[in-house]
Order: sequence, then structure tokens, then C-alpha cells
Amino acid sequence: MALTQSTQRLKEILRNYYQDLSAASQDPGQKVAWCSSAGPVEVLAAMGFHIYFPENHGALLGARRLATPLIGRANARGYSPDICSYLTSDIGAYLQGQTPLKAAYGLPGLPKPDVLVYNTSQCREVQDWFSFYGREFQVPVMGIFSPWKLTRMEPGAVADVAGQLRALAENLSGITGKKLDPDRLKETVRLCAQASLLWKSFLETARRRPSPISFFDATIHMAPIVVMRGTQAAVEYYSGLLKETQVMAETGTAAVEGERLRLYWEGMPNWGKLRFFSDLFGGLKACAVASTYCLSWAFEGLDPERPFECLAEANLKVFINRGEDCKEEYLCKAVEDYGADAIVFHEAKTCPYNTNSRFGLPQRLQEKHGIPSVTIYGDLCDLRCFSQEQTQTLVEALAEQIAAGR
Ligand code: SF4
Repeated sequence: MALTQSTQRLKEILRNYYQDLSAASQDPGQKVAWCSSAGPVEVLAAMGFHIYFPENHGALLGARRLATPLIGRANARGYSPDICSYLTSDIGAYLQGQTPLKAAYGLPGLPKPDVLVYNTSQCREVQDWFSFYGREFQVPVMGIFSPWKLTRMEPGAVADVAGQLRALAENLSGITGKKLDPDRLKETVRLCAQASLLWKSFLETARRRPSPISFFDATIHMAPIVVMRGTQAAVEYYSGLLKETQVMAETGTAAVEGERLRLYWEGMPNWGKLRFFSDLFGGLKACAVASTYCLSWAFEGLDPERPFECLAEANLKVFINRGEDCKEEYLCKAVEDYGADAIVFHEAKTCPYNTNSRFGLPQRLQEKHGIPSVTIYGDLCDLRCFSQEQTQTLVEALAEQIAAGR
């Protein structure tokens, strides 16, 4: 992987982000909110909160292969091994007094929250996860309860969520001591829209043949769109990343030399095994050109002139919260847009919400649309759920099947 300048810049902006967060948590004049990745980040940012994301911490624990032993600590506190391993590894790390943020960014520990805010559009786990910390830190926990699995954007559902966002801002003003400034919210939504568009354009460079980037590159560069969206720093970062990627694309740089197979990754990343997958795919001359996971942060339709409604729509439209028909349609289009030969469905043991291989979707895609796929089994963080040998056999069989069909 090239993208040398952006990778260097990424380290700098993430260091700044975490150090600001840490300083804010030690300053009585600043407020820290913990937030779920689905938001409502924009409202919190516009109200001046410094925002921390436990899911990002879970991913970091997974990527550094620290998660598996920590999960046991949470299990011993009654959090089942079958529930989200972001949750169990994160709570386990907290109980153990451990965080990779110390070594990576020099933080003394986690930034203590003044409030925890979640949105159930992704899953119910976030509510229980944040409630744990609410009890530990004795701080308020607030939630947005989104209607689930929408097939169409129902105006009533949008109005419901927009109303909850307005009420949330009102409740948060009890913590900050200040009302939400509507102009600041508009500006935050504008910056979020800009960063989302740049992120999407970066991902779309993978439509080229050969693709200059892979899913694995995208997982590295997605941190700012998750933790810093709504900031100028994120806009500048993605602007630089896009330029650097476009140069690579124009000069014919390939993420996988000799690319002859293009795959679409569906489901959560297996954070501790990204290198294994990158090597496995590379050995087959296969490039994972796109993924639902990374595309999920390319929010569209953000309009600063109707901030609450557009945030509600963006949130309800996330893939994880859509009905099965929408998912089928979305995947067909993505496969076509990116010229993918097949889909790799990752069945993540502890995240049923972001696993789409359990209710016949792969079969419908094959039968109705001729899209081949393979389902591999594993997890986002818990490495005990994963077999390298079995996965390799399944992926190699898919590659052979496609080669035979050509
Ligand atoms: S969507 Fe899945 S991985 Fe994310 S917090 Fe919920 S259960 Fe965990």
C-alpha cells in the first residue's frame, strides 16, 4: 500500500484528536461525550462536546489482537460471549484498566465522559453498552430510538427521529449550560457533508481497473470519517487523501499487482485478521474493491438548511437499518458499480446486525441476479470464532469457481 503522505498525516491528526480529547477530559470547562458511531455526532459537535467513540476503541483492540483475552473479563461481569465483541472487549479493557490509546497516543487513560449518547439505528447493544458506563461514571445516558429496517423513507419515521434529535439538543443544553447554536449546527452538517463526499470519492477510485486501493486501505483511512466528521480537519484530510489516490489511479498503480479478480466485502471487518485476508486475496490476484462497511460512512443528502431532518434521514438510510429488499438492491448496484466478480459475506459471530448471510440473501443474489458469493465465518474481534484454514479453502474455491466460469 502506498498513500505514504496520507498515512503520515493520518497519524498526526489522530494523535491531535486523542490528545485534545484527553486534555478536554481534564479541563472542567470542557465537556466530553461518548457517542455511538451512528451518531448523533453532529449535534454533539455543534454543541461543543469533545467526542469519543467506544466502537473505535473496540476496533483498535481487535486490530491490535488484544481483544480476545479481554472478552473474558466482561463475560465474568455477566456480559455474554455471544454479544458484540466490541462491547465485551471494550468493557473488558476498562475492567482491566487497559487501553492501546496509552501506547499509541500517550493518553493516561480513557477520556472520562460527561454524558453518553447512542442511536439504536445500528443495534440494541449500544444502549446496554453505554448504560454500563453510565453506571460506572455516574453520568447521564441519552438515546435516539430509530425505527428499524425501513424499506422506504417514511415521513413519519423521519419526523420522529428529527424530533428526538431536537429534544436531545435541549437535554444536552442542561449539561453544557448553553443552547444549541443553529448556525453552528448548519456549519457542522456542511462540514460533515463535505467530508462524506470526499470519502465517497476516495472509495470510488476503486471503480478503476486495476483498482488503486483495496478494502484494507479503506479500513486504515476511515478513522477520521468516524471520529472527526463535522470538522474542518476531516475535510482537509480527505481532500489530501483523494488527491493522492487520484494520482495513483492516473498512473495505473494497482493495489493488487496483476489484478484478475474483484471482490466485494460484505459485513464487519475481522480486525485481527486484515493482514491474513490481504495476503490471501493478494495471492489469488484478487482485490477487495469495495465494502458495505466503508461505504456506510459516505452519508448522502446532508443539507445544512434542514439539519435535523437530513440527519434523521441519513441515519435511517444506513445499510444496517434497511429492509432486506433494500439490501438486495443496494448490493446489486454496488457489485455493478465496482465491477465486482463476487461477494464475500463475513458472518460475524457476535454481530448479527451487520451480518447479512443468515436469511437467504446470498442465495437470492445468486438466483435472481447471478452474483456468486461465499460466506466465511469469523468475528470482528473474537479470534476464537475464526479458522484460517477453513476460510482459505472457501475463498480459494470461490476464486476457482469464477475462473472456471470465465
Ligand atoms: S453494529 Fe454490531 S459491531 Fe456495531 S456495536 Fe452493534 S453489535 Fe457491535
